Formats: sequence, structure tokens, C-alpha cells
Amino acid sequence: MPDKLHTKYVLDEREMPRAWYNIIPDLPHPLAPVLHPGTRQPVGPDDLAPLFPMGLILQEVSTERYIEIPEPVRQIYTQWRPSPLYRARQLEQALDTPARIYYKYEGVSPVGSHKPNTAVAQAYYNQQAGVKKISTETGAGQWGSSMAMAGAFFGIEVEVFMVKISYQQKPFRRSMMQAYGATVHASPTNLTQAGRSILAQDPDGLGSLGTAISEAVEVAASSGGTIKYALGSVLNHVLLHQTIVGEETLLQMAQADDYPDVVIGCAGGGSNMAGLAFPFIRERLNRGLNTRFLAAEPTACPSLTKGVYAYDFGDTVGMTPLMKMHTLGHDFVPAGIHAGGLRYHGMAPLMSLLHEDGILEAQAYAQNNIFAAAVEFARAEGIIPAPESAHAICAAINEALEAKEAGEERVILFNLSGHGHFDMAAYDAYFEGKLQDFEYPAEAIADATTRLPQVDETALVPGD
Ligand SMILES: *Cc1c(COP(=O)(O)O)cnc(C)c1O
Repeated sequence: MPDKLHTKYVLDEREMPRAWYNIIPDLPHPLAPVLHPGTRQPVGPDDLAPLFPMGLILQEVSTERYIEIPEPVRQIYTQWRPSPLYRARQLEQALDTPARIYYKYEGVSPVGSHKPNTAVAQAYYNQQAGVKKISTETGAGQWGSSMAMAGAFFGIEVEVFMVKISYQQKPFRRSMMQAYGATVHASPTNLTQAGRSILAQDPDGLGSLGTAISEAVEVAASSGGTIKYALGSVLNHVLLHQTIVGEETLLQMAQADDYPDVVIGCAGGGSNMAGLAFPFIRERLNRGLNTRFLAAEPTACPSLTKGVYAYDFGDTVGMTPLMKMHTLGHDFVPAGIHAGGLRYHGMAPLMSLLHEDGILEAQAYAQNNIFAAAVEFARAEGIIPAPESAHAICAAINEALEAKEAGEERVILFNLSGHGHFDMAAYDAYFEGKLQDFEYPAEAIADATTRLPQVDETALVPGD
């Protein structure tokens, strides 16, 4: 039986958890309803049907605590799952800390991140509904690669709107999507009304995730039902699919005969952090533990630490349903930081609510500190982390140094959401001293808040 002395905790395929965990029935407060962008009243499953297959819509609103993972999805998962949990022994030594640091490594998937956990599930439910084509967006390219691969597995065509700045910064992510058979456009394009209207305002604009979402949603919404849309984070069903990460980690921490005091993840839309954390939040609530949960985000895109908790659109143009979440405003255009996957204006409603309830803490980090942490980690543990994941590393290192200061045996667990092999240009910029730190100005947030959609929450009629 392994114990704390091991470096790597692995599960056999047969030990892979058989269900995803849905946190909705265990929330201390109910989630605010999703609203129709026109009527501003709660949406029902039928309102979402033009965009998503019913299997996913039902998961989005499900109150079942456990949802069985379908066999074809399980089979594909086993190609890289269960993923390893590592004890960061060399990093602990380098930091000379009494803390024990563990990390769950999601970079072992074929595309190098956690995102296929939901892409494969989404492709499966679309295939079950007879869908032949999916439109989606991608920021850094991790989600686009995942959806392209999953589409190839299930015989679904995939069209990707890739944020123009990433299209230019990360040409190999684009090639990867093409290798899986996807079509990739640099967004904003002139293929959609949304794209054309954004280009008319700013012909040289480099795009944002919000803009790319507008384009991908428009393609699906105007297809007459033949094309569906897929989102790689934020939504309840996406966070649900990621809980396989935390369920495995609970078993692996038991192998280690250890338990985290603090669980850390980087947070863009919130899915990898939720995937690791939600099963541990369930344990905290059920067993009265005082485990801490810490989301790490960029100072350039501080939706949890500085955003407002309010209803907002998921995209720039205002086509998506309204979600109550932490937001920097739907017309937020982020600085060109290199953690492309963390440049989204909003935060998952589930993560936002847990933050409001005081269960989830958040901390923002500047990108030069992030890359310093990434390099320190790489030199100790060998793995070159994605810049997104390096936010979690930075937070974990801070916790370990605090523990050292306090002379405490703190147990730290974080999600290493992906590797950085496609991000070496960002590392180059760091080595050349070219990275600027951005602090998103409070005035910009106050200004964006004035353009939030007006919702009278006292007038909401409960949905069905
Ligand atoms: C997309 C991405 C993220 C950010 O998305 P979340 O939904 O917040 O997890 C983080 N890490 C990696 C490696 C990513 O690809």
C-alpha cells in the first residue's frame, strides 16, 4: 500500500470513478436562474435547444448528485485516465518547506490539458442527438484542440473561431486543430454578422474570447438546428464533466494516507479548479472539514477578485443567455497577457456563488511572478507548465512559503491543468524581459459595470 513516501499515485483503469459529481444539490444557496437575453426571464430547456443537445441541457439543470459516465466516454477517458497525482518532492526541497505539496497532472491527455474531459463528453451527447457539426471558439487553442479531437473521435465536423491574437501567437495550436480535421478561423471574421459589426468598430481588433463566442453562437443559432454550439468552460455541465479529476484525486490522496488543507486551481472560466475542488467541497460540507479552496487568476483579468457579482452576457455582442456571475463586463477586452486561457470576462456561476458564500477564496497574480513560478517548478519537477496552470503553481509556492514561515506541515494540493509545450514563445518573451505586468484598472471595471444588462431580480418568475 503506497503512503506519503511515494512520488506518484496511480490508479488502475478499473478504479476510475464511474460517475461525475453534480454539486448543485449540495450548494448552501440555490443558483440564480439563467435568463433569456430578450425577455430577461428564466430560460427553460427548450430555449437552449437551438444551441445544445438535450442530453447536455438536462445535465445543465440537473439536481441529481451523481451522473453516470456513459461507457463510450469512459472508454476514451481510459486512454489517458486515471491521470497521475504527484507529490512535488523536489519542489518541496527547493523551497525548504515543511509543507507537503501534491499536484494532479492533467497534461497527460493527448492535447495536453484537462479540456478533453468535457470535449469528449460533449461530442458524445451531440452524436447521440444526431448532430453532424459543432461550432465553437477558442482562446489559447487548448479548447479548440480538445473539441477538434473529440469531434474526430465521434465523426462530428468542428468549426473553430480562434481569437485573432492567439491565431497569430500560437500557429501550432491551429495546425493541431487542422490535424484533427477542424476548420479554424481568426476571429473576428467577416463570416458572421457579429464579426462584421465588431470589425466595423475596430478593423484591426485582435479579438477576445467574448467576440469569438458571439461568432460561434451565431453560426449555431442561425443554422436551423443543423449545427450545435459547444463551450469549454463556465457552464454547469462543463464543470460537472471535470469532476472526474477531483474524484480520482480523492482516491489518490487516500492512497497517500494524506488530505489537503488547501486545494488550489487556476481560474479562467473555472472548470479545472471546479473539477478538482467540487468533490473536496462535498467532503468539507458533509464531514464538517475546514479545507480551504483558492482560485488563482491574473491581475490583468481579475473577475473573482475585482469583478462585480451580477447578471451579464457570456459573449460580447449579447446573444447568449444572461448568467449571474463575477464579471468584468461583457465588452471587456483583456491585455495581451500570455495565459490566453484565463482571458475571459466572466467566471462560472457555480464558482461565483461559492465565492459569494465564502467557500472559495481568490487571489490575483501578475504575469512576471507567474513565469518565475513556472520556471522554478520546471527546474524542480521537470514538467514545463502551461502559463494558465502556473497561476496555481504560484499560489501553491506562496502557501508552502507561508507554511515554512509558520513552521507548519500544511498539505497543499493543486491542479496542474496542462503542459506548456505550445507556449514556448511566451517563455521566450519572459526570458527576454519583455513581459509587462498589467493591473486591470478599477475605473475600467466601474465603467463596464454601467453597461451591464439591467435585470430586476425581484420580478423574476420562477422557471420550470
Ligand atoms: C483553458 C485552460 C484553463 C482555464 O480554463 P478553466 O475553465 O478555468 O479551467 C486553465 N488551464 C489550461 C491548461 C487551459 O487549457
